[in-house]
Amino acid sequence: MGAALADALAPECRVTVVDEGTPGRGTTANGFAWINANRTLDETYFDFRVAAMREWERLAREFGTPQWHVPAGNLMWADNEESRAELAARVERLLSRGYPARFLSPADVAVIEPAVRVPDDAHVAHFPGEAFAHASQAAQALVKRAKSAGARLITHHRVVTLTQDHGRVNGVELATGDLITADHVVCAAGWQSSRILGTAGVRLPLVDAHAPGSPAPGLTATTTPARLLRGVIHAPRMHLRPDWNGGLLLAARDLDVATDLATPAATMEARAVELLARARDILPGLEPGVAVRDVRRGVRPMPEDGFPLVGPVLPGLYVAVSHSAVTLAPHLARLIAREVLDGTPAEALAPYRPGRGGGHTSATAFV
Ligand SMILES: Cc1cc2nc3c(=O)[nH]c(=O)nc-3n(C[C@H](O)[C@H](O)[C@H](O)COP(=O)(O)OP(=O)(O)OC[C@H]3O[C@@H](n4cnc5c(N)ncnc54)[C@H](O)[C@@H]3O)c2cc1C
Repeated sequence: MGAALADALAPECRVTVVDEGTPGRGTTANGFAWINANRTLDETYFDFRVAAMREWERLAREFGTPQWHVPAGNLMWADNEESRAELAARVERLLSRGYPARFLSPADVAVIEPAVRVPDDAHVAHFPGEAFAHASQAAQALVKRAKSAGARLITHHRVVTLTQDHGRVNGVELATGDLITADHVVCAAGWQSSRILGTAGVRLPLVDAHAPGSPAPGLTATTTPARLLRGVIHAPRMHLRPDWNGGLLLAARDLDVATDLATPAATMEARAVELLARARDILPGLEPGVAVRDVRRGVRPMPEDGFPLVGPVLPGLYVAVSHSAVTLAPHLARLIAREVLDGTPAEALAPYRPGRGGGHTSATAFV
């Protein structure tokens, strides 16, 4: 989110990016990064996500079809009566909204993803307009472009507090005690944003990632090289796609839900092995020597109501925090850049203000 924002802002103003690590290494490096609007029922949010999918395509054209944006579609199959009915209803709903979707014959599946074995009785849907990102690499490319447009990058420095002058946020203080002043501070610190915002008395309505059983933390695993897939696969018991290093990126809803911040490393590793075993059912050609490469715990920035939290929260202070921020970041960044630079609220962001729903934040928004 911060990388996309720096890229959108840098050509027009002086930008300083502060990261306690390096850009692209937070949750962005530890998610699944499927770019889609596949399951979004809220119509306004659906349209917003479709616009965000288009924005990724525009960005990829600007960068000359980079390897970090993979518009290879998504295959999804259902293998029991209930899930078949759900998938059929979803395909129909998406088609009625002009979203590319269709059912495939086994022969079609063999053309699109030759390495994938689908059970004979499964119904397979294909969503050719969907994509995935190698999100960490994308973030790094965006920051690099922002730097070449004049942005300053400060890495391995933690923001400890927001500084204020006469009721206006005017910068940040780093753990070293150094101060950075700014006309506008945008907090895009993902799931850890509350730590920073709290120093100015702003409460963000995010799901508590530290609570036992919290849905915010999730698990993915990668494998050693196995160049078998092209795009995203959603099978009944897992989802997978190619990873940047030539292996597979593996995930499953049940194992993700079972993971929280207290899950021991040994359990995480056992879940990675289980994911690889499930992948072998789907990819019979997976070489026996392919092994788990690493297991990752990512923490979702999860707004309580599921929608992005974007907008001014105090004079001088703007928030940009969202789940699905890989899908949304380039689109959000363009809209936010115009709001911050011109001071004109973007209509498309109106449903996603942090103060919605009876004032979740303790501060009032400026317009
Ligand atoms: C398992 C899993 C699967 C997911 N699947 C998808 C998906 O398929 N599609 C999708 O769109 N999204 C998905 N997401 C969500 C998506 O990954 C996140 O919404 C997105 O990565 C958040 O990006 P961000 O820039 O807000 O946060 P981050 O990537 O966490 O970046 C925040 C940055 O802020 C820095 N920071 C934090 N605190 C400070 C501080 N005090 N001082 C300085 N720097 C600080 C961090 O170092 C970090 O670099 C998934 C997430 C998970 C965990």
